[in-house]
Amino acid sequence: MKYTLPPLSYEYNALEPYIDAKTMEIHHTKHHQGYVDKLNTALEQYPVLQEKSLSFLLSHLAEIPEDVREAIRNNGGGHYNHTLFWETLSPSPQKSPQGNLLKKIEETFGSLEEAQDTLTQAALSRFGSGWGWLWTDAQGNLSISSTPNQDSPLMEGGIELLGIDVWEHAYYLSYQNKRADYIAAWWHLVDWNIVEKRYNNSTS
Ligand code: MN
Repeated sequence: MKYTLPPLSYEYNALEPYIDAKTMEIHHTKHHQGYVDKLNTALEQYPVLQEKSLSFLLSHLAEIPEDVREAIRNNGGGHYNHTLFWETLSPSPQKSPQGNLLKKIEETFGSLEEAQDTLTQAALSRFGSGWGWLWTDAQGNLSISSTPNQDSPLMEGGIELLGIDVWEHAYYLSYQNKRADYIAAWWHLVDWNIVEKRYNNSTS
């Protein structure tokens, strides 16, 4: 079974003006496709690994043969992270969580706004390429952090709820070096309905 590029549920221009169509198209058809292709190449010699789920591979990297471990970490991570990234964005997003997740965010961070500020800071202060995350453990405890490259909380046993890609390829065409402006724009697209569903599924 080969991995394939998942289609988006919206058009490349649907997220304008916050993310432009050209950035979306290159990000999806070149960058994400590249991770998928290189992941498939890395797995070619290992039929046993092909039978495992991607989340299993990424959460058991120490058990992966050394000659493909970095390739799976980077390209498997890239495929996993981008699949989540597209899913949590919407041209008509629900602007706030409403049930369990809102309650837990308020309990943990004080308010939704404070949680958003914390995630913004985590993403902004990530040096070089990487991601900012809102994630949960298996008990439903929330955390916000950032990871380098295509790493993710999954690699440490976490479950991602929302992630922002802060690689320059995600924003350079429209925002150049202004990562803060891109992050502020990205918040307009986050569909809290999806994020909340992920939270409820992760703890049930
Ligand atoms: Mn990316």
